[in-house]
Amino acid sequence: MYDGIVQDLIDEFGRLPGIGPKSAQRIAFHILQTQNFDVSRLAELLSEVREKVRFCEVCGNLTEHERCSICRDPRRDESLICVVEEPKDVVAIERTRQFRGLYHVLGGAISPIDGIGPDDLSIPALMRRIGESQVQEVIIATDPNLEGEATAAYLSRLLTSIEVPVSRLASGLPVGGDLEFADEVTLGRAFEGRRKVE
Ligand SMILES: [Zn+2]
Repeated sequence: MYDGIVQDLIDEFGRLPGIGPKSAQRIAFHILQTQNFDVSRLAELLSEVREKVRFCEVCGNLTEHERCSICRDPRRDESLICVVEEPKDVVAIERTRQFRGLYHVLGGAISPIDGIGPDDLSIPALMRRIGESQVQEVIIATDPNLEGEATAAYLSRLLTSIEVPVSRLASGLPVGGDLEFADEVTLGRAFEGRRKVE
């Protein structure tokens, strides 16, 4: 334990996801010891993102506007919707440059253990969106893990029951992981090789 605010800082970093006590300590000491570390810039950004960044009213992606840059881009193909779990998945897929349609960010995945059901995700919003537009294909790109698979199965059933063409990414993605961890080439191939759900 350190004295006073140093320990407070370490504790605060330790509360962040994926940062254990050792990393928290390392970050705190980096800030303390690095003369030119711009603390005010970091503080400014933290309060600015809180203030300015919100979720796109159409797709749920992160944006500083009502609609995200992808939804605002007239060159994107509105007839294709790719469903992902989190905004970071949008970034991962954009990096592949394989997809020119729009996205729908669910805000997580179905997980009975964590008490997350379909109504906790933006599935009703997706259904509304599909009802209001001419969607030719919904590509389900949830994570290749248990929760992602459960979510994909649920969505596939829901969408095929109202006769919306659905496809899933081809296998070959690292099982059990997050979409964002797949490299661009693998993810790009999975996209190209997507298969229709009957
Ligand atoms: Zn959007």
